Amino acid sequence: MSDHSLPKTVDPLKYADQNKALQGVMEVQNLPRLADMLASDAGTITVDLEFDRDEQRIRILRGRLSTSLSRICERCLEPVQQPIETEFTLGIVLTDEQASQLPGRYEPLLVDPVSLELKEVIEEELILSLPMFAYHDRCHGEYEQKSEDSENKPEDGAQVKENPFSVLAGLKGKK
Ligand SMILES: [Zn+2]
Repeated sequence: MSDHSLPKTVDPLKYADQNKALQGVMEVQNLPRLADMLASDAGTITVDLEFDRDEQRIRILRGRLSTSLSRICERCLEPVQQPIETEFTLGIVLTDEQASQLPGRYEPLLVDPVSLELKEVIEEELILSLPMFAYHDRCHGEYEQKSEDSENKPEDGAQVKENPFSVLAGLKGKK
């Protein structure tokens, strides 16, 4: 209902050149890919977007999304509201080649020259920011240890993996 506070599509290049900012509210039910991952498609997303050019004249889109999504508690399997706040800065590009030239601090946002569908961006960013699990506060205690472990593991694992390889490479080099 309140989606009309945001334009459906924008011209991303023009918006960036003009440093346009947009604020609005979007209904979760209008984001079907996201809604499929939720317990309910009720709720709204507060959207803050700013198109701009950075000091290198690269066109960027800064965004901030804030919402509370209905998910299924991993422990009791009842619905639970999970607050989500996410911020992002995307580099607006027209081709894969431009994407590969972006500074590492920007995720590429591949666009058509004149028409960017805002809800595609918002949906994608929310899906990316969705925590793997949701718990009620009362359910979280027992699982806290476990979920913290599993959150830390990828990083630790990556480091552990890296070291043996460099050690092996070193050994090979010596032999
Ligand atoms: Zn629960």
